[in-house]
Amino acid sequence: MVKCKKCGHRTVLATGYANSFNPDEEPYENGMIEDPEQEEICTEVIVGIHYCEKCDEVSDAWIESPHQDGNKTAKFE
Ligand SMILES: [Zn+2]
Repeated sequence: MVKCKKCGHRTVLATGYANSFNPDEEPYENGMIEDPEQEEICTEVIVGIHYCEKCDEVSDAWIESPHQDGNKTAKFE
């Protein structure tokens, strides 16, 4: 059980699924905004959250998948 950082109420563990991402305009050079050449990116990301019902806020968020710490388990020997 994880408590809300703000009010201490217990949070709900939940996962969400996103499969569409829109590239933002990104300044590659100082003072220059270039259009991203990439169009909508369709890829699967699963996000985990700890949600506090009391605050109606996400207390914590992380990426469930793809795993960014793939080597973690390999290190436990
Ligand atoms: Zn709260």
